[in-house]
Amino acid sequence: MITLSRRAQQIQPSATLAITAKANQLKAQGVDVIGFGAGEPDFPTPPHIVERAAEALRKGDTRYTSVGGTPALRSAVAAALQRDYGLTYRTAEITASCGAKHTLFNLFLALVDDGDEVIVPAPYWVSYPEQVQVAGGVPVIVSTEEADGFLLRPEALAQALTPRSKALVLNSPSNPTGAMYGRDELAALARVLDDRDVVVVSDDIYHKLTYDGARFVSLLGVAPSLRDRTVIVNGVSKTYAMTGWRIGYAAGPERLIQAMEDLQSQSTSNPTSFAQAGAVEALSGPQACVGEMVAAFDERRRLLVAGLDALPGVRCPLPQGAFYAFPNVSGVYGSVTPSGVEIRNSLTLAAYLLEEAQVAVVPGGPFGADDYIRLSYATSLDNIRKGLGRVAEALGRLRRS
Ligand code: PMP
Ligand code: GLU
Repeated sequence: MITLSRRAQQIQPSATLAITAKANQLKAQGVDVIGFGAGEPDFPTPPHIVERAAEALRKGDTRYTSVGGTPALRSAVAAALQRDYGLTYRTAEITASCGAKHTLFNLFLALVDDGDEVIVPAPYWVSYPEQVQVAGGVPVIVSTEEADGFLLRPEALAQALTPRSKALVLNSPSNPTGAMYGRDELAALARVLDDRDVVVVSDDIYHKLTYDGARFVSLLGVAPSLRDRTVIVNGVSKTYAMTGWRIGYAAGPERLIQAMEDLQSQSTSNPTSFAQAGAVEALSGPQACVGEMVAAFDERRRLLVAGLDALPGVRCPLPQGAFYAFPNVSGVYGSVTPSGVEIRNSLTLAAYLLEEAQVAVVPGGPFGADDYIRLSYATSLDNIRKGLGRVAEALGRLRRS
C-alpha cells in the first residue's frame, strides 16, 4: 500500500478543471451539455499567432531554450509592460513559464517557508490557497463583501497582517467576481503596505478584458514605491485565446525572478519553444484581435448577467472585467428538487443544474463564497440563451420546503 505524501493528501484538485472534465465526459457520451465551466475563450487563437508558431516549428525552433524564455520572449514581455503599464523592466527581471498558473506555483515555492502566511482575499481563484499550501504556507483568507463590489478594504487588510505575513495576492479584474480595483482603492491598500515587508502578487491575467469604459489600473502605476516587492503575473491565455499554449510570465525583483527560474530549471525547464514564438507574436503583433474578442465578451456578458439577474432567488451584479458572471444564488437555498433533494449549498445546486438541466456551472464554495455560482461567458450567445432557458426551467421545478 503506497502512502501518499502529506502534500498530495492535502491538495484539492482544481474545481474549475474538474467541472469542465465532467462536462466534457458527458458530452462524449452524447449528452447535450452547455458548459459555463472553465474560464477559457472559445475563440480560436488568432491566425497570425498560429502562423508564427508554425513557422518557428518549420524553421527548427524545436530545442531547449533558456529556462526563463528566449531573449525574444522576454523582450516582448518587457515591451508589452511598457506599452500596457508604462513600466520599465529589464529582461533579467522577467521570466516565462508554462502558463501563469505555473508562474504562480514557482513564485509561491520561491517565496514561502513553512508557516508563512499569504493573504488571499475571498472570493479567490481556486488555485491560490492550494498552491500556497503546497509550498508549506498558510493561506489567510480575508472576506470581501458583495456590497463593497468584492474589493478588499484597507482595514480588513490591516487586520489580517501579522509578523508572519509574507505576501498578499491581488487579482484585478478578478476571477471569479470580475471586480476591478481603481486608483483610490489601490492607493489605500498601498498605504497599509507601506511600512510592511509584504510581497504583493499582482495577478493581472484579465487586464485586457474590461468593459463599460473601465480601465485596468496597475498597482505599481499608483504606488511605484512598492516596485521592489511586487511581482506582476500575466500571460497570453486569456487575452489572446491561447489557453492550450501554456505561456505565462512574471516581472519583479531580479533576485526573486532568478529563484523562480532556478526552481523551474529543476522541474519543467523552459516553456515550449514554438509556443514562445507564438507568444512573442501575440504580445508584439497586431492587437486588433483583442478588441474584437472583448466586444464579443461584452455582448455575452450583458445577455448572461441580465438573464441571471431576472431569475427568482438569483441576484447578479454586472461585472466590469474578466469573463465570469458570479450570481448570488442563496435565495434558492432551502428549496427541494422534484426528486426530493434539498438545495443546501453551491455544490448541490451545481450538481442539480448539471444533472437536471445539463448545464455546467462552477460552485462558489471552492472560490470561498458558497452563496454564489460562477458561469463563464466565454461561450456563444446561442449557448447563453439556451443555457439560461434551461436554468430558468430547472429552477422553476424547485419547490420551497
Ligand atoms: N490566474 C487567474 C486568476 C486565472 O483565472 C487563471 C486561469 N487559469 C490563471 C491565473 C492561469 O492561467 P494560465 O495558466 O492559463 O496562464
Ligand atoms: N482559470 C480558469 C478558470 O478559473 C481555467 C481553469 C483553471 O486553470 O483553473 O476556470
